[in-house]
Amino acid sequence: MSDKTMRVQSFESATDSLGLTKRQVKRYSLDLLPRIIARLEENAPECETCRQLAQDSDYMLSLLPQIPNSRAERRTFKRRLKKMENHLLKAHRIVREGYYLAICAGIGASFGAALIAATDNPGFVGVGVALGVGIGATLDKKARDESRVL
Ligand SMILES: [Zn+2]
Repeated sequence: MSDKTMRVQSFESATDSLGLTKRQVKRYSLDLLPRIIARLEENAPECETCRQLAQDSDYMLSLLPQIPNSRAERRTFKRRLKKMENHLLKAHRIVREGYYLAICAGIGASFGAALIAATDNPGFVGVGVALGVGIGATLDKKARDESRVL
C-alpha cells in the first residue's frame, strides 16, 4: 500500500470514528483534504511549496475532531485548505470537478446580458449561457484527460 493510499484511508477512518455525517464532511469540504494532500505529495519532489504545504496535513488531521464544535477551528481548516487549493490551481493547474463549467457559464451569462443590452434581443441570454457551458465542458474534459482534476 502506498503512503498516499494510507493517508486517504487514515482520513476516512478518522471522519468515521468521529461520527461525522456525510453532510458535515461535504459542508466543511473535508472530502477535499485527502485528495489535496495526495496532489501535494505528488508534486512535492519538484515543488518546495507543495513540500511545505504537505507537511501541514498532519496538523489538518489533528483539527478534525474540533471541526463540528468550533467555529475557530473550522475557519483555520478552511483557510489552510483554500491556501493548498490555490497553490495547486496556480502552480500546477489542478482544478475541482466542474471548475471550468462554473466559470464559463458565468462569463457566458454576462456575455449574453451584454448582447441583450446591445441588441435589445432577449433571445441572446440562452446563446451566452450555451456558449459558456460548451466551452466550460470542453475545458473540464481536457482537464480530466490531463489528470488535472482534484
Ligand atoms: Zn507546488
